Amino acid sequence: VRGRLPRPRTLVGGDIAILTANCGKNRPTTLEEYTQSGGYSGLRRALQSSPAEIIAEVKASGLVGRGGAAFPTGLKWEGAANASGDPKYVVCNADEAEPGTFKDRVLMENDPHRILEGLLICAYAVGASYGYWYIRGEYTAQMEIVTHAVEEARQAGILGGSVLGSPFHFDMEIRRGAGAYICGEETALFESIEGKRGFPRIKPPFPTTHGLFGRPTVINNVETLANLPYILAHGAAQYRQMGTEKSPGPKLFCLSGDVVRPGLYEVPFGVTFDHLLNDLAGGVRGGELKAALFGGAAGAFATPQHLGVRLTFEDLRAAGLPLGSGVITVFNQHRDLRDVLLRLGHFFADESCGKCYPCQLGTQRQYEILQRVAAGSPLPEDVARLQDVGWTMTDASLCGLGQTAASAVLSAMRHWPELFVPAAQSAPQAQV
Ligand code: SF4
Repeated sequence: VRGRLPRPRTLVGGDIAILTANCGKNRPTTLEEYTQSGGYSGLRRALQSSPAEIIAEVKASGLVGRGGAAFPTGLKWEGAANASGDPKYVVCNADEAEPGTFKDRVLMENDPHRILEGLLICAYAVGASYGYWYIRGEYTAQMEIVTHAVEEARQAGILGGSVLGSPFHFDMEIRRGAGAYICGEETALFESIEGKRGFPRIKPPFPTTHGLFGRPTVINNVETLANLPYILAHGAAQYRQMGTEKSPGPKLFCLSGDVVRPGLYEVPFGVTFDHLLNDLAGGVRGGELKAALFGGAAGAFATPQHLGVRLTFEDLRAAGLPLGSGVITVFNQHRDLRDVLLRLGHFFADESCGKCYPCQLGTQRQYEILQRVAAGSPLPEDVARLQDVGWTMTDASLCGLGQTAASAVLSAMRHWPELFVPAAQSAPQAQV
C-alpha cells in the first residue's frame, strides 16, 4: 500500500509529536518500524498487569474521549468491565465524517499500529475477546492500509489465540460504512455492524451494558485509542505533564479554511487559539479573521475576540465554544457567512436519519429559512422561526445530530444579527 495515498498530502505539525510521532511521511509505518520505535511496549506492559490496574492507570491519566463527547475513557471501560454478559466487544470508531475533520484519517494513513495497540489494550482491560474497526466508507485507501496492518499483526502473533504469547485471546474484523454521517453515532454504528439501517438507539441502556449485539461494548474514537500506548508505556503521571489539570495530554487540531498552512497540528492542551492559528498555521489567508467555526458543522462560531482563549475543555466551555473533535474552520472577512450557514443547513437536512420528528422536520425547515437568508430576503418572522426550530431540535431530538444541528446557526445569530435581516437593511458582504 506504500505510495498509494491520495494527493495532496496533509501537512502535519505542532508543538509536540506524541500521537503524530510517526506521521508526516505520507505512507504507513510498518509493523517493524513501529516496534523498533517502541511500539507495542504499552501492550506488553498492559499484559503484565491486571485489567483493574490498567483501568486505574487510564482513569489516573484523565483521558477523555476525543470523538466529541469527552466522556472519561477509564470510567467507560470500568462500566463495561463490571457488566455481566459474554462475549464483550470493543469497537474502534473510524467513521470520521464531521466536516473539516481529518485527524483520524491522518492517523490511520500514517500509524495504524498505534490505533490497533490502543484497541488491544482496551480489549484486555475490559475482557473483550472480539473487536471491530468501523471505517468511513469514503476512506478507501485508509481501509486498505488498516487491513494490511491488521494482517501484519495477525501474522506476528499480536492478534489471535495468544496475543504476544500471553493467555489473552483477541481477534477482530474491519467493517466499512456506506457514507452516512449518522453512523458515527455509536448506537447507529452498532446497528450498521449488525446489518441494519443506521438508526440511533434510545439511551439508556448504554453501550457499556447493552452495546453491539446487546452485549457489553466499549466504543472509542481513533484518536482516543492512539493515546493509550503512550499512557501504558510511560505512565499516567508522565502523560499528565502535558496539558492542564482538567485537560491533560496532547490534542490534535484540524485547521482548515482561510489559513496559510492548513493541516493537522498536535499541541498540548492549554495553548491559545492565537498560537495555533498565527504561530503554527501561519495566520489567516486572504484577509483578516472574520470567524472560526469550532467543532465542525455541529459547532459554534468564534470571533477575533476569542483569539486569546486557551484550547482546553474548561476554557472553551467558559467561552461558549465546543472543542468537539478538534476541528476549526477559519473564515476571512471576505467570506459570506450566509453562504456558510446555508451549506451547514443543507448538510443537516441531508444527513438527518429521519427517525425522530424534531430533527427530521426541523433540519428541513431550518434549511428552507437559511435559503431565504442566503438570498437576502428573509421573511419578517424568520429570526423567531429559526430560534424556535433551533431550540426545539436542541431540546427534543433523539441523538446528538439533531441536538446540535442548530448550534452554529444560533451562535451566528448572537454574533451577527445583521445577517438575518433583508439585504437592503444590512451591509453587503462580498462573495468569494
Ligand atoms: Fe435521526 Fe436526527 Fe433523530 Fe438523530 S436526531 S435519531 S439523526 S432524526
